[in-house]
Amino acid sequence: MPNPTSDPFSAYGRSAAPIRRELIDAREIEDIRLRHALSDIIGGYTKLRRAGRELVGLCPFHPEKSASFHVNDAKGLYHCFGCGANGDAIKFLRETEGLSFMEALRSLGGSDLPVVSEAARVKAAQEDAEARRQAIADAKAFADRCVDPAGTPAEAYAMARGITAPLPPSIRFGMLPAWRDRETGEWSAPRPAMVGLCVNGGGDLVAIQRIFLRPDGSGKAQMRKPKLTLGRIRGASLRLGPVASEVIITEGPEDGLSLMQELPGASVWVALGTALMPEIEMPPEVRSVVIAGQNDAAGHAAVTRAAEALTLRGLSVRTMFPSAEYRDWNDELRGVAI
Ligand SMILES: [Zn+2]
Repeated sequence: MPNPTSDPFSAYGRSAAPIRRELIDAREIEDIRLRHALSDIIGGYTKLRRAGRELVGLCPFHPEKSASFHVNDAKGLYHCFGCGANGDAIKFLRETEGLSFMEALRSLGGSDLPVVSEAARVKAAQEDAEARRQAIADAKAFADRCVDPAGTPAEAYAMARGITAPLPPSIRFGMLPAWRDRETGEWSAPRPAMVGLCVNGGGDLVAIQRIFLRPDGSGKAQMRKPKLTLGRIRGASLRLGPVASEVIITEGPEDGLSLMQELPGASVWVALGTALMPEIEMPPEVRSVVIAGQNDAAGHAAVTRAAEALTLRGLSVRTMFPSAEYRDWNDELRGVAI
């Protein structure tokens, strides 16, 4: 038996000294963690391209064809909306290279990647937070300019898609711009849009989704991307129905409105992108979720990932798909087979 006054570590065959040598100040760790741009580190593993204030690429942790892996240099964090992988430079090196925490720190400390100065780091973090605040403020300002969709191209668009039930209050019509010029800060000319008001888990408006329409609402506008979001979309959803103990989640407003019409009494919430389905914030009243997917390989994969993520969050999860002859719920509503 070891003497109680002796070195407590000696009983386990090691002395305290080497452990003390391994102790590093939290401040020092933070410094090493953010010494290099995370995109420079991850760029050696997967090709990243700029998307707004983040960089995106194919996830190094799961096989995928469309990019759901996001890197935020200002925060020094990565996040995959597909498999849920997330962390910082240290975790990235531990998981890709199988390094221990200390080995990852040493590897970063000795790396010859460009060093990001403390001032540049602080500035990037401030700009990142400011850009997010601005996007939410813009989304709110645009939402204020919208009107009830009755008698507008938004209602005409819904009708053209076979949606005849009254539109919920979260669906609006507005003449809104699509883009803002990065250099001048000026918004593009306004166009008619069906606008979805999107809220976070607490029910606060944090984003809008615009579906740009032809002037008569007979279809979507001829644009490369007629569906655009603005604001803080991570965690947000377009609630077509109220908070309920069970909600159905689906991908697009057209699918969501079709389901609301077909399933009276159900509450359907729309995710702002396939990859964002696992992220939807749920208030505590919601106990179970039905994920309404689409009939294609990508749709099935998205549902599987969302089901796993939402189950881990303690929700009871079921899934459903349109009948095999239809691609999505709106096609099924209109009887338009594949
Ligand atoms: Zn992934």
